[in-house]
Amino acid sequence: MAKDKIENSSIAWPLERLTRLMRAGEHEGGLNPAQWEALRYLSRANRFSNSPIALTRFLGSTKGTISQTIKALERKGYIAKAPRENEGRSINLSLTPKGSEALKNDPLAKFSKSLDDLSGKNRRRLAKGLADLLETDLKRREQPSFGTCPTCRHFREKGGEADGGGPHSCMYFGVRLSSDETQFICVEHS
Ligand code: SF4
Repeated sequence: MAKDKIENSSIAWPLERLTRLMRAGEHEGGLNPAQWEALRYLSRANRFSNSPIALTRFLGSTKGTISQTIKALERKGYIAKAPRENEGRSINLSLTPKGSEALKNDPLAKFSKSLDDLSGKNRRRLAKGLADLLETDLKRREQPSFGTCPTCRHFREKGGEADGGGPHSCMYFGVRLSSDETQFICVEHS
C-alpha cells in the first residue's frame, strides 16, 4: 500500500525540526516558550477552560510548572486572575490588554508566512493529515482533545433557540452558547 512507502521517520523528523525552529523564536519579548504557549491558550480557551487546571491539562505539564508560568505572566502584567463564580478557591485567568497586544507579535506568525507559501492543495492535505495525527496520538495517550463545540457530542446546534437563548446549547454544562463561544477550545470537549 502507498502508506508503506513512506517511512515514519520521513514524517517525524521534519516535525521535530519544525518544532525546534518554531520554538527558537520564542525567547523574544521577554517571554519564554511556556509563557507564549499559555498566552496562546488563554486567547483560545472558552469560559469553562480558562483555569490553571485546564491549562495544565492542555500543556501536559505539571501543576508546579504551570503555577510558575502563571505567576511570571501575572507579575509581568500579561494576565489577570479573578475568582471563579460558585467554585470556591478556583480562579479564572484572562489576558490583559498587554497580553492581547503581545500576541499581535507572536513569534509563531513567522511560521504562518511559510505556510502562506504552500499551495492550496498542500495546505488542505497538511491540515487534514496533522489533524488526524494529533487525534490519533491524543487518543493513544488518553489525553483530552480540547476541540471546539461543533465537533463535541455535548453540543446541540440551535438547542437554545426555543427559549430565545444561545442560539446553541451545551448538554454537559447545561448552558446556552452564543455562536462566537462555539469557536473556542474546551477542556470538556468530547
Ligand atoms: S459543547 Fe462540548 S466543547 Fe462546547 S462547551 Fe459544551 S462540553 Fe465544551
